[in-house]
Amino acid sequence: MFRRNAVEMRVVILAPIGRDAVLLASSLSPLEVDRAIATNTAGLIRMLGEGAGCAVIAEEALRRDVIHDFKTWLSEQPPWSDIPVVVLTFSGRVTRESDRRSEELEALGNVTLIERPVRPDTVRSAVRSALRARMRQYEIRSRQEALIQANADLEQFAHSASHDLREPLRSMSIYSEILTRKHAPSLDEEGTGYLNLIKGAALRMDNLLDDLLSYAHASSISDDVIGPVPAQQVVEAAVENLAGAIQESNAKINVGEMPAVRMRESHLAQIFQNLIGNALKYRALDRELEIQLSATQLEGHWVFCIADNGIGVPAVYFETIFGIFKRLQSNAASGTGMGLAICKRIVERYGGRIWVESEPGSGSKFLFSIPA
Ligand code: ADP
Repeated sequence: MFRRNAVEMRVVILAPIGRDAVLLASSLSPLEVDRAIATNTAGLIRMLGEGAGCAVIAEEALRRDVIHDFKTWLSEQPPWSDIPVVVLTFSGRVTRESDRRSEELEALGNVTLIERPVRPDTVRSAVRSALRARMRQYEIRSRQEALIQANADLEQFAHSASHDLREPLRSMSIYSEILTRKHAPSLDEEGTGYLNLIKGAALRMDNLLDDLLSYAHASSISDDVIGPVPAQQVVEAAVENLAGAIQESNAKINVGEMPAVRMRESHLAQIFQNLIGNALKYRALDRELEIQLSATQLEGHWVFCIADNGIGVPAVYFETIFGIFKRLQSNAASGTGMGLAICKRIVERYGGRIWVESEPGSGSKFLFSIPA
């Protein structure tokens, strides 16, 4: 019925009193999955670590210190894993004490409580749904692994492509440089103009390759648990990196209180750098540029906002500008049209969203959300 490798689908049983464990194991035999009996909690945790579809535990085995150890073990499991636990509880009247006990047991996460005396078909049905839930978790794991692989392939491809493309690019730059230095006198104005166009194109291609690489790296996925990063610090670093452009545009930047978020620091830095960089590039020349950064908490997410009083974005382009190589002004300001596409890819990799609100002529607000 449950086709998967035997260890991944086995039922690990911990019921220390008398023949309970053996009886439980035999009542589960119609499910045709392996059953393993643990004699104590250490054994249970070891077996679950080796692989299991679910655990069936008698309440008397779950003393408070055992629950603590079990919870610690559960918290160390990869994000896709949420092992189902069926607990056979004592029967009796509902009291404040029994309520508290249920709460304690349910803190184990994916728990189903069944009151004893329990009929064999009730245990079977609880274990069957636990195993079905576990199968779904394995499917999510497989899909996640496939995604990680596809992303690694994309990164590898972008890496090789950019490496191979940079070689002829370097030759273009070097030889146009030599031409300028050695043969400038024999070139007329038109010839020098063409040469500068070649140099400009080579530089532009180099920037495009950098951005393509950033795009490929933007959603590198891993199972690592990422510690919270203080956004305040990241914003300060981005502002420092852009110091030249900020000074040149005489921009006033105001940063509100920023939270810490679970993101790779380089990813968050890239988003701020791109969005603040854009506010600087697409400023209105008839007024002083003001950029306002803020963050608010909304429905389980942090929503960051980078607001400017620049040229704004017409509503018809609200979606388009987040596409690859999409630009509204082809030569007004330097850029590859990849900045917002990179931001989108990063934000979505963390389960968030990015969008723009704007009044053309008066400014734009770029907002992105990250799960809190
Ligand atoms: P790039 O800046 O390299 O062109 P982006 O992907 O960062 O690429 O932005 C895409 C386009 O969105 C830009 O070319 C510009 O037309 C528009 N845009 C982005 N940010 C702003 C902004 N703050 N104000 C007005 N327009 C913007």
